[in-house]
Amino acid sequence: MLWASPQTVVAYCQSRPTRRWPINNLEPTAARPLAAPEVNAIKKLVDACPPEFQAVKAQLEGARVTDRCACGCATFDISAPPHAPIAADGFTGLLPAEGTIPRGGSPADGLIVFLRDGRLVGLEVYGVADTPIRQLPPADDIIVLPATDVR
Ligand SMILES: [Zn+2]
Repeated sequence: MLWASPQTVVAYCQSRPTRRWPINNLEPTAARPLAAPEVNAIKKLVDACPPEFQAVKAQLEGARVTDRCACGCATFDISAPPHAPIAADGFTGLLPAEGTIPRGGSPADGLIVFLRDGRLVGLEVYGVADTPIRQLPPADDIIVLPATDVR
């Protein structure tokens, strides 16, 4: 994370303390379409990314949530439709924009989006509070930060 040291940011999910893809605390769930807050959060982050990442928005059409975090937080895995365009020449890593979620004045709750081979594979929320973020806030409440040094 860029705005807080590893010592101050604590993952909700103690079984995956590194908070890096692949997310390894997921449990299979019935695949479902992304909910509007999930789509809107990803779109907002993509809007802050370079042009080569804009294809991610097309992947949201028909994307499915395939797994969710076992701790109850809003982290989930994504399966993008196979016909969707590939972003950023098949980039694997974090989308180069991150979101912070203001909550109780804490600046360090946030969300990150993972790509693999240029395709959406997951969204993870993290933070410093004792309780997980169980639902993504409206996109208007997410503050986007460019994440230029996380690749
Ligand atoms: Zn979790």
